[in-house]
Amino acid sequence: MRVYNFAAGPSTLPLEVLERAKAEFLDFAGTGMSVTEISHRDKAYEQVVKGAEALVRELLGVPDDYAVIFVQGGASTQFAAVPLNLMHSGSADYIVTGNFAKKAWQEGQIYGAAHKIGDSSDKKYAYIPDLNALNYTEGADYVHITSNNTIFGSRYAEFPKCAAPLVADMSSEIFSRRINVADFGVIYAGAQKNLAPAGVTIVIAKRSLIGEPLKICPTMLKWKVQDENGSLYNTPPAFSIYMAWLVLENLKAKGGVKAMEEVNNYKAQLLYDFIDNSKLYKNNVERPYRSVMNVPFVTDSEELDAKFIAEAKKAGLVSLKGHRIVGGMRASIYNAMPVDGVKALIEFMKKFESENA
Ligand SMILES: *Cc1c(COP(=O)(O)O)cnc(C)c1O
Repeated sequence: MRVYNFAAGPSTLPLEVLERAKAEFLDFAGTGMSVTEISHRDKAYEQVVKGAEALVRELLGVPDDYAVIFVQGGASTQFAAVPLNLMHSGSADYIVTGNFAKKAWQEGQIYGAAHKIGDSSDKKYAYIPDLNALNYTEGADYVHITSNNTIFGSRYAEFPKCAAPLVADMSSEIFSRRINVADFGVIYAGAQKNLAPAGVTIVIAKRSLIGEPLKICPTMLKWKVQDENGSLYNTPPAFSIYMAWLVLENLKAKGGVKAMEEVNNYKAQLLYDFIDNSKLYKNNVERPYRSVMNVPFVTDSEELDAKFIAEAKKAGLVSLKGHRIVGGMRASIYNAMPVDGVKALIEFMKKFESENA
């Protein structure tokens, strides 16, 4: 029996994709081998990497002068790769709007002057700072943001308009909303939130920015090298890329990013409306910045929160516990969470409220 899985990452994947992967697991594309067994240089595998790249380009409208590469080490490794590829003059700006944003900023400090030009920790990261009031550093190599804050449940409604190239960690929202890739210098995202199993990270980078990584940049972290080798410089995370390919095909069949964005907005609206109208539950993020992907909420007591999580689990609604640094509950409602899953959660919340108010 499948449950509704609200985990923040690794997270739920489309059922059709899991079924297809299961059906062709023992014999991929007539090779008589599993996709986990064939060489990454095999013709049959080439269609996977090339197919996944083509779908990323098509679904996000990536301009031709941008590289699209699949790398390893998770988004956290990209916290280092960003300065190692881009920090030529030794300075960059960071907007710190959550835990991962802070980690990216801290990693940046290893390589140069990483200026924190915005910080919303004063209100527990419940908002995004006013982007027009920020003091952008003249001559900075880039401005780094985290577009959706997975733990605190906030997101950028709009993106900064700055002179330096904008670098965005989109791990927990890529493919959930339309974006104009040309507005960004670099976009990166770990796959395990909204795309695929853990193990692969997507980097989309404007080629004119990545030609000269710092001398100390490890070869494996050079985006240029990965681009020149079609993400096959070394053995790639073959199964995760294959799963990403299937998820992207599935997304295309469902109408692409625009159609998905509409469903996502609808799901989030249902849940936030219910929370805002209830007496028991609260979401503390300022409205213009509320995440469409991660919805944290609390009752008025930690005991009740714990009871909620335990009873929800029995009702087949799992992984609703909030991140350990926030507490309470968090419903991650990524692309693969069906509307029916959100409706089932709301029904459960209603019932729990009537029994415990
Ligand atoms: C999960 C997450 C990360 C960390 O990803 P790893 O793949 O575990 O390194 C970084 N940034 C954001 C926004 C995330 O949601």
